[in-house]
Amino acid sequence: MSLLDWFANRRKAEPTNQAQPERDISDGLWTKCDACGVMTYTKDLRANQMVCLECGHHMRVFSEERIEQLMDADTWIPLNEQVSPIDPLEFRDRKAYSDRIRDTQAKTGLTDSIQTGIGQIDGEPAAVAVMDFRFMGGSMGSVVGEKLTRLIEKATAERLPVLVFCASGGARMQEGMLSLMQMAKISGALERHRDAKLLYIPVLTHPTTGGVTASFAMLGDLIVAEPKAMIAFAGRRVIEQTLREKLPDDFQTAEYLVQHGFVDLIVPRTQMKATLAQLIRLHQLPSAKVSASTGAASLNGAGATRDTASSSAS
Ligand SMILES: [Zn+2]
Repeated sequence: MSLLDWFANRRKAEPTNQAQPERDISDGLWTKCDACGVMTYTKDLRANQMVCLECGHHMRVFSEERIEQLMDADTWIPLNEQVSPIDPLEFRDRKAYSDRIRDTQAKTGLTDSIQTGIGQIDGEPAAVAVMDFRFMGGSMGSVVGEKLTRLIEKATAERLPVLVFCASGGARMQEGMLSLMQMAKISGALERHRDAKLLYIPVLTHPTTGGVTASFAMLGDLIVAEPKAMIAFAGRRVIEQTLREKLPDDFQTAEYLVQHGFVDLIVPRTQMKATLAQLIRLHQLPSAKVSASTGAASLNGAGATRDTASSSAS
């Protein structure tokens, strides 16, 4: 067989080799793990919150799924769903920004890259925001800034803890300086929330980078991350070129950042709901004691949860 024949045969053979697994994946019946390559029945994988049953790899989940995993059934009240991006700079890269927004909205059913709302986590009320990487890489533009700020201000007024699930490529370049301003705006709202002695926990999921890392992702009272999440400000190559130094392989992972004090806690997704609920309860204990004489109901709530906390910790 000549070399040309061999290439011709190979080209012919390729489609039949590849068609089978691809069709399976697009069926959605089976999902292949990006880390270990094992195919898992999608229904089982969903039941395990898209964490590989074989190797524990955390696959990407989007905002609706995240909300469903976290919030108690029928407690989620979405807020400010009508807030939608505009194109103040009439920005155009390969495509006009206004077209990009319209297309992405049609494709994802989302208005922008964040969903915010109020609901309960294991019975604990909380203000929650979930970023969605599908929408232009979870980029932070004016809508993310506005919806987060409104959520935090509402949480401050109603004395609720704030949880923000971060997943972002950074600031949205199509909005230029307007997107950078959101970092200060959100940080300001968080500062007033902190002044009111309320709890804020950012949960860093894969990937959390750029302007999000440089603002609200790092301002938590406790900073939680999912295992192996990439957490970065600038990219590895930029830093290596600036420092003229080779960086360790696990640099910019959640595990590396825990060791170096940037992240407090790595929580597997399957334990996320219980852990966040426990943290909220722990934070409430002192104030419940203070208000013991005035509010018996809140003390009862805290007392019951103290038992739960100690039993699940053992
Ligand atoms: Zn796996």
